[in-house]
Amino acid sequence: MFKKVLIANRGEIALRIHRACKEMGISTVAVHSTADSYAMHVRLADESVCIGPPSAAESYLNVPAILSAATLTGADAIHPGYGFLSENANFARIVEEHGMAFIGPTSDSIATMGDKVAAKDAMRATGVPVVPGSLGAVESVADASRIAGEIGYPVIVKAASGGGGRGMKVVEHEADIETAFKMASREAESNFGDATVYIEKYLAHPRHVEVQVIGDGQGNAVHLFERDCSLQRKHQKVLEEAPCPVLDDATREKIGTICAEATAKMNYRSAGTFEFLYENGEFFFIEMNTRVQVEHPITEMICNFDIVAEMIRIAAGAKLSITQEDVVMEGHAIECRINAEDPVSFAPSPGLIEEYHAPGGLGVRVDSALYAGYRIPPYYDSLVAKLIVHGRNRDEAIMRLRRSLGEMAVSGISTTIPLHQRLVDNPSFAAADYDIHWLESFVETS
Ligand code: ADP
Repeated sequence: MFKKVLIANRGEIALRIHRACKEMGISTVAVHSTADSYAMHVRLADESVCIGPPSAAESYLNVPAILSAATLTGADAIHPGYGFLSENANFARIVEEHGMAFIGPTSDSIATMGDKVAAKDAMRATGVPVVPGSLGAVESVADASRIAGEIGYPVIVKAASGGGGRGMKVVEHEADIETAFKMASREAESNFGDATVYIEKYLAHPRHVEVQVIGDGQGNAVHLFERDCSLQRKHQKVLEEAPCPVLDDATREKIGTICAEATAKMNYRSAGTFEFLYENGEFFFIEMNTRVQVEHPITEMICNFDIVAEMIRIAAGAKLSITQEDVVMEGHAIECRINAEDPVSFAPSPGLIEEYHAPGGLGVRVDSALYAGYRIPPYYDSLVAKLIVHGRNRDEAIMRLRRSLGEMAVSGISTTIPLHQRLVDNPSFAAADYDIHWLESFVETS
């Protein structure tokens, strides 16, 4: 097993990884920008190294600085968390070339899944149901118009290297395909440095359902059931729940098995997520995330299994510690992403935390790097806490969530806690009657 792990991230996920390491007897190295000198991940880690100025490009994305920090401190592995360098195939390769383990998939898997066209091809080859669309990249306006005609409007034009919900254009009518194709290619080029786009059938009212898998790269893989992440604003997840409240056991079993088998067939190593749109009883693969997800705790709660610890064991060369029979789902879990933002305008609200009180009690987990006296810097993602509740069933989880939200206190800045409070009291939410568009209209009208 590793003796020392460098955590190439910040905020709550850096703490999450630190906690898994400590429970495994591994010491930790935090890296941080000058804006994060007083951050909780720096305070808790066994060692810390400042890797650059506030801008992420010069610190958390600064590969030479991170590698130097790892070498200087004698770390034998690097965990990238999510965001930043987590899905950078080059980084994964360079880490391994420097004789350290990358706690994640192989750089080849990251590269394949990072190219969404290649990812869909890989899925078709392993029997995963894929959203109808172009086979491969769309090269020209003529191609775009022919393919869209074959699929049938509406369609969505997406960037092959896209991410974070950016670079997508919905096209309702044939008359608009030329403009959409050109705009999407241009935006893909300027945002992702790759003009390649592809076309998919646009689903009008799907839910976003994703399956958590873990493979050991030695032929073994399991699924840990699914999460429903339909509640999104601007393609960003806001609240997630596990299991998906509208799936029956047979459907759940079927899609989970397909994903676990695909993971084994690809000989995939580490944790990963198959994201699907789910409409009228059918699953359509959209992408695979090759990292730990923000919402992984709800899966940990229903499966009573530490995903991050398993990633670490596997990166150290161990075989998967569980078989599919060992994975038993119990109860229901919900996660609220609490952002330092105005709950109405969503304007970022960095600044000094004057008071902080985290809720507690049975079935309540708070993953956060907040503390009273901490100053949230304005340079990074606004996620500051994840409130995760677990109950014997969905109703109990909702009651617990309402109770916990009421107990949670963060003063000095604005947070999205009031938005979550409105959401838990909404009858459509209570009835699990929502799709991927529902939250946008809820936000506008509530
Ligand atoms: P990204 O990597 O940028 O997050 P995704 O392919 O995962 O892109 O899509 C992000 C979100 O965009 C999905 O969760 C869904 O809300 C919407 N979306 C993507 N593809 C489609 C589609 N074919 N039809 C309808 N909505 C889609």
